Amino acid sequence: MMSKQQWLVCFDTDRIKQYLFVTNRLKEIRGGSALLENLDRKRKKELQDRYEKNLVYSAGGGAAVLVSTEQEAKDLIAQIEREFQAETITASITGVFLPTNGPGREFGERMAEAGQRLRRVKAAKAELTTLPIEPYLCLCDSCGQQLAATRANDRSGDWLCCSCDKKRKPGGDKRQGYFDEFLEWIGSVEWNRTEIADDLDGIGVVARPPNYVGFIALDGNHIGSLLDKPQTIERYGQFSTGLYNLTKEQVFTALQDHGSPRDGIAPFEIVLIGGDDVLLITAADIAIEVALTIAEGFERKSLSKVVDPAGLTDVKNLTMAGGIVLAHADFPIPAMHQLAEALQKSAKKHCASEGYETGAIDFLIVSGSDTDLETMRKTIPHRRPYTLEKLGCLLSHIRQLKRVDFPMSQLQTMYQALFESEVNAQLASIATLGRLGQREDKELYNRLKTFFSDFGVKFDGQLPPWDADTKERDGRKVSALTDLVELYPFIQVKGGA
Ligand SMILES: [Zn+2]
Repeated sequence: MMSKQQWLVCFDTDRIKQYLFVTNRLKEIRGGSALLENLDRKRKKELQDRYEKNLVYSAGGGAAVLVSTEQEAKDLIAQIEREFQAETITASITGVFLPTNGPGREFGERMAEAGQRLRRVKAAKAELTTLPIEPYLCLCDSCGQQLAATRANDRSGDWLCCSCDKKRKPGGDKRQGYFDEFLEWIGSVEWNRTEIADDLDGIGVVARPPNYVGFIALDGNHIGSLLDKPQTIERYGQFSTGLYNLTKEQVFTALQDHGSPRDGIAPFEIVLIGGDDVLLITAADIAIEVALTIAEGFERKSLSKVVDPAGLTDVKNLTMAGGIVLAHADFPIPAMHQLAEALQKSAKKHCASEGYETGAIDFLIVSGSDTDLETMRKTIPHRRPYTLEKLGCLLSHIRQLKRVDFPMSQLQTMYQALFESEVNAQLASIATLGRLGQREDKELYNRLKTFFSDFGVKFDGQLPPWDADTKERDGRKVSALTDLVELYPFIQVKGGA
C-alpha cells in the first residue's frame, strides 16, 4: 500500500531512435535493439525481485517504482543509469524521483508530475550529447560520429567506436531480442527453423516485387494525455503493462498472419517495441497489411486490455497513427526511419482532426533519392493519410481489381492524366469507364465505378477521378486513384476480399 512508501522513482530511456539509427547496417541496428531489449528484461527482473509489489511497472524502456527513502531513490537511479551506460556506451536512461505523500493528490497526478520532470531532465541532457570531435582523429566506420576505439572482431576490417562494437557483437547472434520473443510466442517448429536476414537485401530477396522493403513506424495516439488518469498504483501498472503487452501481441499477431517464412527466411525485422511505439522493417508486399492489422487490433482490443483494467472511465478506445515507407532495399535505413516518422506525424495530424476516434496511416513509395517528405509529394494528387477503415477499403479494391485482371495499361493511362490537369484526369477516367461500359461483360466497369464511388466520386457533375467527400488537402484536389495505382504492385491477392 502507498502509506508507507515515500518516494516515487521513474525511468525512461533517452533518444532510443538516435541510438539505433546512427548506422545504416541492419546487423548493428539489430544488435542495438537486442541490447536495449535485454537491458529492459534484466531491469524488470531485478526490480521485480527487489521491490515486488512496489514496482508500479517496468516495460518498453521505462519503469516506475516506490522506494522508502530519498537516499534509496538516488542510489537506485545512479545504479540503473550506470549499468545502462556501461552496456550501451552512447545511449542513456534518465531517472527522476519525487515524494509521493501530499494531501489530496491522486497517484496519477504524481505520475504525471514525474513525467514532466523526466521530460525536463531529458531535454537538458539532449543538449549536452554532441561532443565536438577534432578533425584529425579517426571516426568510427559505422556511425561516423564517435571516435574509433577498436578493430571489428569480424572480417570487415572496420574501425569501430565502443558503442558500435557492442552492437555488432549481439547483432551477429540471431536468436535474441524481439525475434527470440516472437519465436517463443509463436511456438512452432517451422518458425524455429527460420533464419533472419543478414541485411536489408536479405529481406528484399524474398520480397515481391523483389528488392523492395517497407519501413513501418506506429505510435499510440494521445497516450501522454492519459498518464495522469489511472488513480491508483495498481491501475497505473495495469495501464503501462497493458499498453506494452497489447502492442507486442498485435505486432506478433500481424507478423504471424502476414509474415510467414519465405525460403526459410523471415520477411521482416522487429526493430523496436517500446510501450505503444513500434518500428518494423518488412518485405514491401506485406508492409501495408502488417501495419493495418496492428493498428486495427490495437484499437479493437484497447478497451478490454488497457482502458478498462486501468479504470479509465471517460475514455472510449485507444487508436494508433502509422507511417509506412516502401523503398528499394539499398535506400539508407536512417532515411527510411526519418520519412516513416514524418508520415506518422502526418497520420497523427489526421487522427487529431478526427478527435482521435480513429487511427490513420500515411504511406510513401520512394522512387528517387529525395529524403524530404514535403518535396517528394508536393506535386502528387494523393488522398493520404487514410483512416484505417478507408485504407482497408482501398486494399480490398486493389485485390478485387487484381482478381478480375483489370488491365494495368488502363490504370496507368488514368494515373498519368492525374498529373496533367484536372480536366485531362477527368477525360481519361471517363474515357476508360466509357470503353469498359461498352463491353458485354460489365465486371471491369462495375469494379472501377464502385471504386470511384467509394472514394467520393459523385458522377453527377463531379466527374471522376476527383474526390468530392475529402476536403481539398493543402489546397489541391485529391484522388484515391493515385494511391491505388502506386500501391498496386505492393498488394498481394489472397483468399477473401
Ligand atoms: Zn560508432
